[in-house]
Amino acid sequence: MNRRPQANGDDAIPMPRGRRAIPSVEKVLQALGEMGAARPVAVAIVRRELAALRREPSVPEFGTVLLRIRSALNDQTLARIQPVINGTGIILHTNLGRAPLSDKAIEAMSEAGRGYSNVEFDLVKGERGSRAPVLEQNLALLCEAEAAAVVNNCAAALVLVLRQFTREKRQVLISRGELVQIGGGFRIPDILEASGAELREVGTTNQTSLEDYARAISPQTGLILKVHRSNFTMSGFVSSASTAALAALAREENVPLVEDLGSGALIATEQLISVPHEPTPAEVLRQGADLTTFSGDKLLGGPQAGIIAGRADYIGALKRNPIFRALRCDKLILCALETTIESYLNGTAAREIPTLALLQVSCDTLCERAEAIQAMTRELPLDVRVTSAQSQVGGGTLPGAQVESVCLELLPHALTLHELSLRLRRHKPSIIGCLSSGSYHIDLRTVFPRQDEQLVAAIRAAFND
Ligand SMILES: *Cc1c(COP(=O)(O)O)cnc(C)c1O
Repeated sequence: MNRRPQANGDDAIPMPRGRRAIPSVEKVLQALGEMGAARPVAVAIVRRELAALRREPSVPEFGTVLLRIRSALNDQTLARIQPVINGTGIILHTNLGRAPLSDKAIEAMSEAGRGYSNVEFDLVKGERGSRAPVLEQNLALLCEAEAAAVVNNCAAALVLVLRQFTREKRQVLISRGELVQIGGGFRIPDILEASGAELREVGTTNQTSLEDYARAISPQTGLILKVHRSNFTMSGFVSSASTAALAALAREENVPLVEDLGSGALIATEQLISVPHEPTPAEVLRQGADLTTFSGDKLLGGPQAGIIAGRADYIGALKRNPIFRALRCDKLILCALETTIESYLNGTAAREIPTLALLQVSCDTLCERAEAIQAMTRELPLDVRVTSAQSQVGGGTLPGAQVESVCLELLPHALTLHELSLRLRRHKPSIIGCLSSGSYHIDLRTVFPRQDEQLVAAIRAAFND
C-alpha cells in the first residue's frame, strides 16, 4: 500500500520533515479577512505566495507569512490604474498618462460611454455613416489641411503612412540627423523596418542638405520623411533642408513628403508663455509637406491619438488601407478628441485644456500655494522649503524649453528620503515627486490646485504612520 505523505494540521500539502507546515489557502484567506481585492484575485495571489514559500529553505511563522501576503495584495492594489498627483513638474509625463483631459472632454466621454452613440451612424440620412466626420473636418480646419484622419497614436500614424507609401517603391529617405528615438522603445528606424520599408539614410548627423536628398532619390524612393527633433536639440555646426525646399524637390520628383511633428501644437505656444516656437501642423502644410503626423496627447492636450492631416487624396488612400481598420480609435477617444478640438475652434483652449492651462500658471500663484502648504505642515518633524525650479514640458515636446516653476523641498528629520518617497507613493492618491540633491521635491507646476489639500494630507500621513 502506498504511504501518502502525512497531512499536517489542517493542511494536505506534503512537506519535508522538520519544516514548518505551509498554511492552507483557506486558512490564509480566513486570517486575512477583508482583503481589498476580489476573491479570485486574492486566491491567486495567496497561491502564488505559498508556492514561493515552498521553494524557500524554511517556512516563516504564520504571522510573517500573513504579512508577506498582505503586502503582495497591497502591491496588486497599487498596480491598478488610479489617479496620482504629479509632483515631477513634467507636464507631459508619458509614465503618468501624458495630457490630463479637459472637463468638457471628460463629460463628453462619460455621456457617450454610458449608452449608445452615433459613432458610425449618420443621423441626417438615418444610415451607416463614417466615423467621426465632424472631428476629421474640424481637424482639417485647424490644420489648414484638405483632410485629416485619426488613428491610435502617432506611432500608428507613421506605420500607416509607411505601409501605404512604400508598397511598390520601398525606399524612405530620412536625414541621419532625424533617426531619433522617442521615449522608451520607439525608434524611427525600427518603425520603418517593422512597416516593411527600406531606410535610405541621407546626409550626416549634423548636416543634411537638399543636395543630399536630391542625390539619394531613385526610382525606388516611395517617400521622403522629415522627423521633428521633438525631444532633443542640436546646436553648433548644424543645418538641415527646410520643409519648403524639400517640398519643392518632392514635387519635382513626384514623391510624397511627410513631416512627422510628434507633438504639433495647435496654437502658438510662445504666445502663452516664454518657450521656443513649436511648429504647428498648419505651418508645415503651408510650407508644402503633403502630410503631417502628430499626437493627440502631447501639447494638443487631448486623449491618446495620432492625427494625420494634409492632401485629401492621400488621406483617402490611407483610410482605405486595410491597416487603417486595425488602427482606428475607440468611440470614447473620438469623443474626447472631438470635444478637445472644439475648445481650439471656440478660442477657449488656453484656459480649458489642462496642458495649456498648467503651462500658464504664474510663479507668484505657485509660490502662494507652496507657502500655504508649508504653513499647513509646520507642526510635522520636517523642514519644508519653497524654492524656485525649472519644469519641463516633457513627452517629446519643446525640448529646449525651461518653464520657471516653484518646488516644495521636504527634508524629514527622522525619516530617510527613501522612506518618505515610499510612503508618499503608497498614499492614496499616490504622490510622485523626485529625490534630488538631498531632499524630496514636489514641483507645483503639475499639481492642480484642487490637489493641494490631498498633498498636505499625504505629507501628514507619512509622518503619522
Ligand atoms: C512622440 C512622437 C511620436 C510618437 O507619438 P505617440 O503618439 O506617442 O505614438 C512620433 N514622432 C515624434 C517626432 C514624436 O515626438
